[in-house]
Amino acid sequence: MKIIFVTGGIISGLWKWVTASSIGRLFKSSGYTVNMMKIDPYLQVDAGTMSPYEHGEVFVTEDGGETDLDLGNYERFVDIALDRWANPTTGKIYLTVIEKERRGDYLGKTVQVIPHITDEIKSRILTQAAKADICIVEVGGLVGDAESPVFIEAIRQLRRDIGPDNVCYVHVVPLLYVEVSGEYKTKAIQLSTRQLREAGIQPDFLVARCPRPIPQELKPKISMFTDVYEENIIEATDARTIYEVPLLFEKQGLKDKIETVLHLDHKPIDLSDWSAFVDNVVAPTREVNIAIVGKYAELEDAYMSVREALVHAGAKYATKVRRHWINAEEIEKNPNLLTELQTSGKMDGMIVPGGFGSRGIEGKISAIRYAREHDIPFLGICLGLQLSVIEFARNVCGVTDATSTEFEKPGTAFIDYLPDQNEKIDKGGTLRLGTQEATVLEGSLIHKLYGSTTISDRHRHRYEVCPDKHEILRSHGLVLSGTSHEGRLVEYIENPACTYFVATQAHPEFKSRPGKPHPLFDGLVKACL
Ligand code: GLN
Repeated sequence: MKIIFVTGGIISGLWKWVTASSIGRLFKSSGYTVNMMKIDPYLQVDAGTMSPYEHGEVFVTEDGGETDLDLGNYERFVDIALDRWANPTTGKIYLTVIEKERRGDYLGKTVQVIPHITDEIKSRILTQAAKADICIVEVGGLVGDAESPVFIEAIRQLRRDIGPDNVCYVHVVPLLYVEVSGEYKTKAIQLSTRQLREAGIQPDFLVARCPRPIPQELKPKISMFTDVYEENIIEATDARTIYEVPLLFEKQGLKDKIETVLHLDHKPIDLSDWSAFVDNVVAPTREVNIAIVGKYAELEDAYMSVREALVHAGAKYATKVRRHWINAEEIEKNPNLLTELQTSGKMDGMIVPGGFGSRGIEGKISAIRYAREHDIPFLGICLGLQLSVIEFARNVCGVTDATSTEFEKPGTAFIDYLPDQNEKIDKGGTLRLGTQEATVLEGSLIHKLYGSTTISDRHRHRYEVCPDKHEILRSHGLVLSGTSHEGRLVEYIENPACTYFVATQAHPEFKSRPGKPHPLFDGLVKACL
């Protein structure tokens, strides 16, 4: 068992996740199996209840875990599928220990932070570490945060428990640069490393986040204060894309150096595919413009996986995909907005992504109508499928009051909560979560895109297209091209009257990878080109 811990100091937003993910990529490209984990210090039991405004997208694992968006980054960098166990939070860990205590598992012993909470943390890490050659564990938050000490204590103990040759500590710190005097300041690195050492952890590596390369003469000084070997001080300079960071780390020999610390043989590494992908991201030869009509338009992190899926699809065609985030409520206020977007070249294609609640709904429906009537390549995701159905029902089938019961407005429900169906699927949960399989209509566009009649994507939704409305939609020309549960649930639709008009009840963005764009995004970018 080999575990690499990644901690961070001083300030957040220092690319702790980029560091963890990039190390994962290096080991994966050397033929190791890799597992990744993020320990989140917040008190929520999972990320499901956190507002995308506060915390960005809720990422969904294949087995239906609702997790921190960093897991999406790990999956994309390392090309793995993580499980719900990859994202323990303080809330989850305490809940488990308290439930055990209520069940009497501790036989009347005093239940304490050490050893009971730390044991629970360690056992979760060891379970994940046993699943691969290398397990990389990012410790959320910063060393010194109020919630951190118990996690830092647990990862300190693990070195003792499984042996120093099997554990490596990487600490990500800022190398500050004072613009006015043109000087680098190492104090933040010194203080943060001291804080970690006070907790009993001597880092093996420092990853210094800095805009420019570290001047050579600084390394002996940093090394002297921190006891980290000079050659193990790695720089994380600004990159042209985050996907370039594994290449920057490899140039500094990081993978070999970690192998040395972990007493592993040095395996050759092949990053040629990864480099080819990065080249296409940083030097595109063409461009397409996609309007993304959503509720959280001001915060791109709320749709992080959608953004990255577009990067992956664009790279396949050496194409820069420019994203234009449109707040659906703006469309409600200004009906000319869509025409303006199209004539100004900002809308070669359109995405209506997932969402909850009724804000901006009418704006999104107007956008979908515009896409359908003007043959703008369109991809509807989850709520985007539901609204595509409503738009079609209203403007093609003539059911002018078509709606979803989620919006709590009177009308004819085309989208509804199917409690019996969901109960069967979810074992009592209210959201339909995780990977679901669908059967695809032979010869449909979806069939062509996926190249298969049995496909699956990850879900996170509550509502469904009403089974008693399938017929009217079909008879007016909407193709229900992917269904599940004996045709009862609609998973994929397409409109053959348009060049590219597809929507899915799932979240295809979660499965997109560098070098392996998701078929629905691939198809969208291709149609735009
Ligand atoms: N609000 C819709 C539902 O619950 C769609 C959810 C989503 O887009 N993820 O079914």
